[in-house]
Amino acid sequence: MLRCESLTQTYRSGGRELTVLKDISFTLEPGGFLAIVGPSGSGKTTLLGLLAGLDRPAHGRVWLDGTELGPLDEDARARVRAEKVGFVFQSFQLIPTLTARENVEIPLELAPANGGGSWKGRADDLLARVGLAGRAHHYPAQLSGGEQQRVALARAFSNRPRILFADEPTGNLDARTGASVIDLMTELNRELGTTLVLVTHDAELAARARRTVRLADGVVVADSAAAA
Ligand code: ADP
Ligand code: MG
Repeated sequence: MLRCESLTQTYRSGGRELTVLKDISFTLEPGGFLAIVGPSGSGKTTLLGLLAGLDRPAHGRVWLDGTELGPLDEDARARVRAEKVGFVFQSFQLIPTLTARENVEIPLELAPANGGGSWKGRADDLLARVGLAGRAHHYPAQLSGGEQQRVALARAFSNRPRILFADEPTGNLDARTGASVIDLMTELNRELGTTLVLVTHDAELAARARRTVRLADGVVVADSAAAA
């Protein structure tokens, strides 16, 4: 489902080249649930961006659901993302001028073929699924942080992604709300077989994943699959 080989990323800062990821390789099976953990600045967000095809690596290769991302141009990668990928960010990133339902419908506009049936029906089903059936017409500013993240989760699932990437999705939520967001992600992983890749520095949440890869200073220092 997801494979990376010798991924290396560098940034230029003040004339110096900074290596923030070095030689990362692993394979994740379909339906897997991987947690990427490690201290702040260890390269977790950079790695997620490369795996999801948002950015290109300095070196190395990524395969997403059988498609190698490297040879694709920006438009082709955007199509792969629209068809196969869902995202959840720490800061929710809902569009403030759209209602909850309209936010959930965005990925359906980008990948209409994935919607099946009626969009309104699908968006409403997903909002019900995350416990927000009564909030379809609310704008993000009218929702609590936990509610906004649940809308973001419904949005991430609306194009029926094969793989969901989440970057510290509970970072701005209290512990209980965060746990319920992870419960939902786990349920959807089990029911729909969606592969999950979760970045978190919360050890309790990471423990819910079936596999953990730990980064420090841009290298993998532990992989539970390798240890097993
Ligand atoms: P994490 O998500 O684990 O906190 P990041 O992947 O965000 O780590 O960052 C890894 C390192 O790369 C950090 O040292 C950060 O300062 C640096 N970095 C991230 N993005 C950029 C960028 N666009 N330009 C320069 N340096 C960056
Ligand atoms: Mg980060």
